[in-house]
Amino acid sequence: MKTIPFNKPFLTGKETEYIKQAVESGKISGNGMFTKKCQTYFEERYGFKKCLLTTSCTDALEMAAILLDINPEDEVIMPSFTFVSTANAFVLRGAKIVFADSMKGHPNIDADLIEPLITPRTKAIVVVHYAGVACDMNKIMAIASKHKLFVVEDAAQAIDSFYTGSDGGRRPLGSIGHLAAFSFHETKNIISGEGGMLVINDDKFIGRCEIVWEKGTNRAAFFRGEIDKYGWVDIGSSFLPSEIVSAFLFAQLEHLDQIQKKRLQLWNLYYELLKPLEISGLFKLPIIPLYSTNNAHIFYMVCKSNEVRQKIIAVLKQNNILSVFHYLSLHKSPYYCKNHDGRVLQNSDKYSDCLLRLPMYYELTYEDVRRITGFINFALNG
Ligand SMILES: *Cc1c(COP(=O)(O)O)cnc(C)c1O
Repeated sequence: MKTIPFNKPFLTGKETEYIKQAVESGKISGNGMFTKKCQTYFEERYGFKKCLLTTSCTDALEMAAILLDINPEDEVIMPSFTFVSTANAFVLRGAKIVFADSMKGHPNIDADLIEPLITPRTKAIVVVHYAGVACDMNKIMAIASKHKLFVVEDAAQAIDSFYTGSDGGRRPLGSIGHLAAFSFHETKNIISGEGGMLVINDDKFIGRCEIVWEKGTNRAAFFRGEIDKYGWVDIGSSFLPSEIVSAFLFAQLEHLDQIQKKRLQLWNLYYELLKPLEISGLFKLPIIPLYSTNNAHIFYMVCKSNEVRQKIIAVLKQNNILSVFHYLSLHKSPYYCKNHDGRVLQNSDKYSDCLLRLPMYYELTYEDVRRITGFINFALNG
Protein backbone atom coordinates (compact mmCIF):
# COMPACT_ATOMS: atom_id res chain seq x y z
CA MET A 1 0.00 0.00 0.00
CA LYS A 2 1.24 3.49 -0.93
CA THR A 3 3.01 5.29 1.91
CA ILE A 4 1.76 8.78 2.69
CA PRO A 5 4.48 10.76 4.50
CA PHE A 6 3.61 13.60 6.85
CA ASN A 7 5.46 16.12 4.71
CA LYS A 8 7.11 16.15 1.31
CA PRO A 9 9.13 19.15 0.08
CA PHE A 10 7.71 20.48 -3.18
CA LEU A 11 9.99 21.60 -6.02
CA THR A 12 8.48 24.08 -8.45
CA GLY A 13 10.96 23.18 -11.23
CA LYS A 14 13.20 26.25 -11.48
CA GLU A 15 15.21 25.72 -8.29
CA THR A 16 18.29 24.09 -9.83
CA GLU A 17 18.25 26.48 -12.79
CA TYR A 18 18.38 29.49 -10.48
CA ILE A 19 21.05 27.85 -8.31
CA LYS A 20 23.10 27.31 -11.47
CA GLN A 21 22.67 30.99 -12.35
CA ALA A 22 23.84 31.98 -8.87
CA VAL A 23 26.86 29.69 -9.06
CA GLU A 24 27.81 30.87 -12.54
CA SER A 25 27.42 34.53 -11.59
CA GLY A 26 30.56 34.15 -9.48
CA LYS A 27 28.84 35.55 -6.36
CA ILE A 28 27.53 32.88 -4.02
CA SER A 29 27.96 34.50 -0.60
CA GLY A 30 25.02 36.42 0.85
CA ASN A 31 23.24 39.67 -0.03
CA GLY A 32 23.54 39.20 -3.80
CA MET A 33 21.05 39.36 -6.65
CA PHE A 34 18.72 36.53 -5.54
CA THR A 35 18.66 37.71 -1.93
CA LYS A 36 17.64 41.16 -3.14
CA LYS A 37 15.03 39.73 -5.54
CA CYS A 38 13.42 37.76 -2.68
CA GLN A 39 13.49 40.68 -0.26
CA THR A 40 11.98 43.03 -2.85
CA TYR A 41 9.32 40.45 -3.67
CA PHE A 42 8.17 40.39 -0.04
CA GLU A 43 8.38 44.15 0.41
CA GLU A 44 6.28 44.75 -2.70
CA ARG A 45 3.76 41.96 -2.28
CA TYR A 46 3.03 42.50 1.42
CA GLY A 47 4.10 46.08 2.03
CA PHE A 48 6.65 45.04 4.67
CA LYS A 49 8.89 48.02 5.42
CA LYS A 50 12.16 46.11 5.22
CA CYS A 51 12.98 42.41 4.78
CA LEU A 52 16.26 40.60 5.42
CA LEU A 53 16.64 36.94 4.48
CA THR A 54 18.22 34.83 7.21
CA THR A 55 19.49 31.27 7.40
CA SER A 56 16.45 30.27 9.50
CA CYS A 57 13.49 31.65 11.40
CA THR A 58 15.47 30.79 14.53
CA ASP A 59 18.13 33.25 13.33
CA ALA A 60 15.52 35.90 12.55
CA LEU A 61 14.18 35.56 16.10
CA GLU A 62 17.72 35.85 17.49
CA MET A 63 18.19 39.02 15.42
CA ALA A 64 14.93 40.36 16.83
CA ALA A 65 16.14 39.75 20.40
CA ILE A 66 19.41 41.59 19.65
CA LEU A 67 17.61 44.52 18.00
CA LEU A 68 15.30 44.87 21.02
CA ASP A 69 18.38 44.95 23.29
CA ILE A 70 16.96 42.09 25.33
CA ASN A 71 19.08 41.60 28.46
CA PRO A 72 19.00 39.69 31.76
CA GLU A 73 16.81 42.37 33.36
CA ASP A 74 14.01 41.67 30.90
CA GLU A 75 10.92 39.51 30.83
CA VAL A 76 9.31 38.38 27.60
CA ILE A 77 5.73 37.09 27.40
CA MET A 78 4.91 34.36 24.89
CA PRO A 79 2.75 31.24 24.51
CA SER A 80 4.00 27.95 25.97
CA PHE A 81 2.58 26.02 23.04
CA THR A 82 5.24 26.93 20.49
CA PHE A 83 8.53 25.81 19.02
CA VAL A 84 11.69 25.95 21.13
CA SER A 85 13.25 28.74 19.02
CA THR A 86 10.54 31.25 19.94
CA ALA A 87 11.83 31.16 23.51
CA ASN A 88 15.46 30.20 22.97
CA ALA A 89 16.24 33.37 21.00
CA PHE A 90 15.36 35.49 24.05
CA VAL A 91 16.88 33.08 26.60
CA LEU A 92 20.19 33.43 24.74
CA ARG A 93 20.17 37.13 25.68
CA GLY A 94 19.45 36.29 29.30
CA ALA A 95 15.74 37.17 29.43
CA LYS A 96 13.20 35.45 31.63
CA ILE A 97 10.35 33.90 29.67
CA VAL A 98 6.84 34.29 31.09
CA PHE A 99 4.49 31.82 29.44
CA ALA A 100 0.85 32.57 28.74
CA ASP A 101 -1.80 29.96 28.08
CA SER A 102 -3.42 29.32 24.70
CA MET A 103 -7.05 30.05 23.99
CA LYS A 104 -9.63 27.40 24.78
CA GLY A 105 -10.70 27.23 21.15
CA HIS A 106 -7.34 27.80 19.43
CA PRO A 107 -3.64 27.10 20.12
CA ASN A 108 -2.80 30.83 19.76
CA ILE A 109 -1.94 32.90 22.84
CA ASP A 110 -5.00 34.08 24.80
CA ALA A 111 -4.75 37.87 24.52
CA ASP A 112 -6.94 38.31 27.61
CA LEU A 113 -4.30 36.61 29.77
CA ILE A 114 -1.40 38.87 28.77
CA GLU A 115 -1.99 42.03 30.79
CA PRO A 116 -1.90 40.40 34.27
CA LEU A 117 1.54 38.96 33.38
CA ILE A 118 3.08 42.36 32.68
CA THR A 119 5.57 43.63 35.29
CA PRO A 120 7.97 46.62 35.27
CA ARG A 121 10.54 44.22 33.76
CA THR A 122 8.43 43.17 30.77
CA LYS A 123 9.98 44.33 27.51
CA ALA A 124 8.25 42.37 24.76
CA ILE A 125 5.35 40.15 23.79
CA VAL A 126 6.07 37.43 21.24
CA VAL A 127 3.02 36.09 19.45
CA VAL A 128 2.95 32.91 17.36
CA HIS A 129 0.41 32.65 14.55
CA TYR A 130 -0.15 28.92 14.93
CA ALA A 131 -0.98 27.10 11.70
CA GLY A 132 -0.83 30.47 9.95
CA VAL A 133 -3.93 31.67 11.82
CA ALA A 134 -3.69 35.19 13.20
CA CYS A 135 -3.52 36.03 16.89
CA ASP A 136 -5.93 38.72 18.08
CA MET A 137 -3.55 41.48 16.99
CA ASN A 138 -5.72 44.56 17.67
CA LYS A 139 -6.04 43.56 21.29
CA ILE A 140 -2.36 42.62 21.61
CA MET A 141 -1.05 45.80 19.93
CA ALA A 142 -3.30 47.90 22.20
CA ILE A 143 -1.91 46.22 25.33
CA ALA A 144 1.65 46.65 24.01
CA SER A 145 1.17 50.32 23.24
CA LYS A 146 -0.47 51.00 26.64
CA HIS A 147 2.51 49.43 28.46
CA LYS A 148 5.17 50.54 25.94
CA LEU A 149 6.17 47.01 24.98
CA PHE A 150 7.56 45.65 21.74
CA VAL A 151 5.67 43.01 19.78
CA VAL A 152 7.48 40.34 17.76
CA GLU A 153 5.43 38.12 15.48
CA ASP A 154 6.74 34.58 15.18
CA ALA A 155 5.23 34.27 11.72
CA ALA A 156 7.22 31.10 10.90
CA GLN A 157 4.01 29.41 9.71
CA ALA A 158 2.15 32.51 8.60
CA ILE A 159 3.20 33.27 5.04
CA ASP A 160 0.43 34.78 2.91
CA SER A 161 -2.08 34.92 5.75
CA PHE A 162 -3.96 38.05 6.81
CA TYR A 163 -5.55 39.72 9.81
CA THR A 164 -8.61 41.92 9.58
CA GLY A 165 -8.74 44.45 12.39
CA SER A 166 -11.88 45.90 13.95
CA ASP A 167 -11.32 48.93 11.70
CA GLY A 168 -11.89 46.62 8.72
CA GLY A 169 -8.31 46.99 7.48
CA ARG A 170 -6.75 43.77 6.18
CA ARG A 171 -3.08 43.36 6.95
CA PRO A 172 -0.61 40.58 6.15
CA LEU A 173 0.70 38.68 9.15
CA GLY A 174 4.25 39.82 9.77
CA SER A 175 3.40 43.47 9.07
CA ILE A 176 1.74 44.26 12.41
CA GLY A 177 4.35 43.81 15.17
CA HIS A 178 7.53 45.89 15.43
CA LEU A 179 9.45 42.90 14.06
CA ALA A 180 8.43 39.56 12.54
CA ALA A 181 10.17 36.31 11.70
CA PHE A 182 9.28 33.86 8.90
CA SER A 183 10.56 30.35 8.19
CA PHE A 184 11.35 28.64 4.89
CA HIS A 185 12.26 25.33 6.52
CA GLU A 186 11.30 22.39 4.32
CA THR A 187 8.23 21.70 6.45
CA LYS A 188 6.69 25.12 5.74
CA ASN A 189 4.50 26.23 2.80
CA ILE A 190 7.36 28.00 0.93
CA ILE A 191 10.77 26.44 1.40
CA SER A 192 14.52 26.72 0.87
CA GLY A 193 15.68 23.72 2.91
CA GLU A 194 16.68 25.83 5.87
CA GLY A 195 15.84 29.51 5.62
CA GLY A 196 14.05 32.43 7.17
CA MET A 197 13.41 36.15 7.06
CA LEU A 198 13.30 39.04 9.48
CA VAL A 199 10.72 41.74 8.74
CA ILE A 200 11.37 45.18 10.17
CA ASN A 201 8.22 47.27 10.48
CA ASP A 202 9.44 49.92 12.92
CA ASP A 203 11.75 52.62 11.57
CA LYS A 204 13.88 52.66 14.70
CA PHE A 205 15.41 49.29 13.79
CA ILE A 206 16.20 50.09 10.16
CA GLY A 207 19.65 51.56 10.89
CA ARG A 208 20.90 48.67 13.02
CA CYS A 209 19.27 45.68 11.31
CA GLU A 210 21.78 45.28 8.48
CA ILE A 211 24.67 45.67 10.91
CA VAL A 212 23.43 42.88 13.18
CA TRP A 213 22.78 40.79 10.04
CA GLU A 214 26.38 41.29 8.80
CA LYS A 215 28.36 40.22 11.92
CA GLY A 216 28.11 43.58 13.63
CA THR A 217 29.80 45.42 10.77
CA ASN A 218 28.61 48.21 8.49
CA ARG A 219 29.55 46.14 5.45
CA ALA A 220 26.19 46.53 3.67
CA ALA A 221 26.47 50.33 3.76
CA PHE A 222 30.07 50.03 2.52
CA PHE A 223 29.00 48.00 -0.53
CA ARG A 224 26.37 50.58 -1.33
CA GLY A 225 29.15 53.19 -1.32
CA GLU A 226 27.68 55.07 1.66
CA ILE A 227 30.91 54.85 3.69
CA ASP A 228 34.52 54.37 2.55
CA LYS A 229 35.60 51.62 4.93
CA TYR A 230 33.76 49.17 7.12
CA GLY A 231 34.40 47.93 10.63
CA TRP A 232 33.02 46.50 13.83
CA VAL A 233 30.27 48.81 15.09
CA ASP A 234 27.83 46.61 17.08
CA ILE A 235 27.14 43.02 18.12
CA GLY A 236 25.87 40.71 15.42
CA SER A 237 26.37 37.37 13.78
CA SER A 238 26.41 35.74 10.37
CA PHE A 239 22.68 35.70 9.80
CA LEU A 240 22.55 35.99 6.01
CA PRO A 241 21.98 32.99 3.73
CA SER A 242 24.16 32.24 0.72
CA GLU A 243 22.91 33.08 -2.77
CA ILE A 244 22.47 29.35 -3.38
CA VAL A 245 19.71 29.26 -0.79
CA SER A 246 18.16 32.53 -1.97
CA ALA A 247 18.11 31.28 -5.58
CA PHE A 248 16.15 28.23 -4.44
CA LEU A 249 13.74 30.42 -2.50
CA PHE A 250 13.12 32.72 -5.44
CA ALA A 251 11.99 29.77 -7.56
CA GLN A 252 9.44 28.96 -4.86
CA LEU A 253 8.16 32.53 -4.66
CA GLU A 254 7.30 32.52 -8.35
CA HIS A 255 4.79 29.75 -7.55
CA LEU A 256 3.45 31.06 -4.27
CA ASP A 257 -0.14 31.51 -5.45
CA GLN A 258 -0.24 28.05 -7.03
CA ILE A 259 1.12 26.44 -3.84
CA GLN A 260 -1.30 28.29 -1.59
CA LYS A 261 -4.29 27.44 -3.78
CA LYS A 262 -3.56 23.72 -3.80
CA ARG A 263 -2.92 23.57 -0.04
CA LEU A 264 -6.19 25.37 0.65
CA GLN A 265 -8.11 22.93 -1.55
CA LEU A 266 -6.61 20.00 0.35
CA TRP A 267 -7.34 21.69 3.68
CA ASN A 268 -10.96 22.32 2.70
CA LEU A 269 -11.42 18.73 1.56
CA TYR A 270 -10.09 17.42 4.91
CA TYR A 271 -12.52 19.74 6.69
CA GLU A 272 -15.49 18.72 4.55
CA LEU A 273 -14.82 14.98 4.95
CA LEU A 274 -14.16 15.16 8.71
CA LYS A 275 -17.05 17.52 9.55
CA PRO A 276 -19.69 14.76 9.66
CA LEU A 277 -17.48 12.76 12.08
CA GLU A 278 -17.14 15.66 14.52
CA ILE A 279 -20.56 14.90 16.09
CA SER A 280 -18.97 11.78 17.58
CA GLY A 281 -17.55 14.24 20.14
CA LEU A 282 -14.19 12.46 19.87
CA PHE A 283 -12.39 15.40 18.25
CA LYS A 284 -12.77 19.04 17.24
CA LEU A 285 -11.89 20.57 13.89
CA PRO A 286 -9.76 23.73 13.72
CA ILE A 287 -11.49 27.06 14.21
CA ILE A 288 -10.49 30.04 12.06
CA PRO A 289 -11.54 33.27 13.82
CA LEU A 290 -13.39 35.83 11.68
CA TYR A 291 -10.39 38.18 11.90
CA SER A 292 -8.04 35.69 10.22
CA THR A 293 -7.58 34.06 6.86
CA ASN A 294 -6.35 30.47 6.52
CA ASN A 295 -3.07 29.76 4.72
CA ALA A 296 -3.45 25.98 5.06
CA HIS A 297 -0.10 25.51 6.72
CA ILE A 298 -1.30 22.72 9.00
CA PHE A 299 -4.41 20.58 9.05
CA TYR A 300 -4.95 19.51 12.63
CA MET A 301 -7.66 18.01 14.79
CA VAL A 302 -7.90 18.31 18.56
CA CYS A 303 -8.75 14.88 19.94
CA LYS A 304 -10.92 14.43 23.01
CA SER A 305 -8.11 12.62 24.81
CA ASN A 306 -4.58 11.37 24.37
CA GLU A 307 -6.01 7.85 23.94
CA VAL A 308 -8.15 8.93 20.97
CA ARG A 309 -5.07 10.55 19.43
CA GLN A 310 -2.97 7.41 19.96
CA LYS A 311 -5.69 5.28 18.40
CA ILE A 312 -5.86 7.42 15.26
CA ILE A 313 -2.05 7.60 14.93
CA ALA A 314 -1.85 3.79 15.26
CA VAL A 315 -4.57 3.04 12.70
CA LEU A 316 -3.05 5.48 10.21
CA LYS A 317 0.41 4.02 10.80
CA GLN A 318 -0.84 0.48 10.17
CA ASN A 319 -1.93 1.81 6.80
CA ASN A 320 1.39 3.54 6.02
CA ILE A 321 0.11 7.04 6.75
CA LEU A 322 2.17 9.31 8.96
CA SER A 323 0.38 11.67 11.34
CA VAL A 324 2.18 13.50 14.12
CA PHE A 325 1.51 15.51 17.24
CA HIS A 326 3.12 18.90 17.78
CA TYR A 327 4.72 20.97 20.54
CA LEU A 328 5.25 19.84 24.10
CA SER A 329 4.42 22.81 26.35
CA LEU A 330 7.66 24.76 26.90
CA HIS A 331 6.83 25.54 30.54
CA LYS A 332 7.12 21.77 31.15
CA SER A 333 10.27 21.29 29.05
CA PRO A 334 13.28 19.66 30.72
CA TYR A 335 15.32 22.80 30.11
CA TYR A 336 12.91 25.50 31.22
CA CYS A 337 10.46 23.93 33.71
CA LYS A 338 12.65 25.02 36.66
CA ASN A 339 12.11 28.66 35.69
CA HIS A 340 8.35 28.47 35.35
CA ASP A 341 6.31 30.03 38.15
CA GLY A 342 3.95 27.10 38.60
CA ARG A 343 0.85 28.48 36.88
CA VAL A 344 -1.17 25.71 35.25
CA LEU A 345 -1.53 26.29 31.50
CA GLN A 346 -4.32 23.87 30.81
CA ASN A 347 -5.09 24.76 27.20
CA SER A 348 -1.44 24.58 26.21
CA ASP A 349 -1.24 21.15 27.84
CA LYS A 350 -4.42 20.06 26.08
CA TYR A 351 -2.90 20.89 22.69
CA SER A 352 0.33 19.12 23.70
CA ASP A 353 -1.60 15.98 24.62
CA CYS A 354 -4.41 15.96 22.08
CA LEU A 355 -3.56 17.91 18.91
CA LEU A 356 -2.92 15.72 15.87
CA ARG A 357 -1.52 16.93 12.53
CA LEU A 358 -2.45 15.14 9.32
CA PRO A 359 -0.30 14.91 6.17
CA MET A 360 -0.26 18.24 4.32
CA TYR A 361 1.91 19.00 1.32
CA TYR A 362 1.51 20.20 -2.26
CA GLU A 363 1.71 16.79 -3.89
CA LEU A 364 -0.82 15.16 -1.57
CA THR A 365 -3.78 14.09 -3.71
CA TYR A 366 -7.51 14.39 -3.08
CA GLU A 367 -7.56 10.59 -3.21
CA ASP A 368 -4.96 10.53 -0.40
CA VAL A 369 -7.14 12.83 1.71
CA ARG A 370 -10.14 10.53 1.16
CA ARG A 371 -8.05 7.54 2.19
CA ILE A 372 -6.74 9.27 5.32
CA THR A 373 -10.16 10.48 6.47
CA GLY A 374 -11.60 7.03 5.73
CA PHE A 375 -9.11 5.45 8.13
CA ILE A 376 -9.84 8.12 10.74
CA ASN A 377 -13.51 7.19 10.48
CA PHE A 378 -12.54 3.57 10.98
CA ALA A 379 -10.33 4.42 13.98
CA LEU A 380 -13.13 6.37 15.67
CA ASN A 381 -15.80 3.76 15.11
CA GLY A 382 -13.76 0.58 15.30
C1 LIG B 1 9.31 26.31 12.12
C2 LIG B 1 9.15 27.23 13.26
C3 LIG B 1 10.24 27.91 13.81
C4 LIG B 1 11.67 27.65 13.40
O1 LIG B 1 11.92 27.88 12.08
P1 LIG B 1 13.38 27.51 11.50
O2 LIG B 1 13.37 28.18 10.16
O3 LIG B 1 13.43 26.02 11.41
O4 LIG B 1 14.39 28.07 12.41
C5 LIG B 1 10.02 28.84 14.81
N1 LIG B 1 8.79 29.06 15.28
C6 LIG B 1 7.71 28.42 14.80
C7 LIG B 1 6.37 28.73 15.35
C8 LIG B 1 7.87 27.46 13.78
O5 LIG B 1 6.79 26.82 13.32
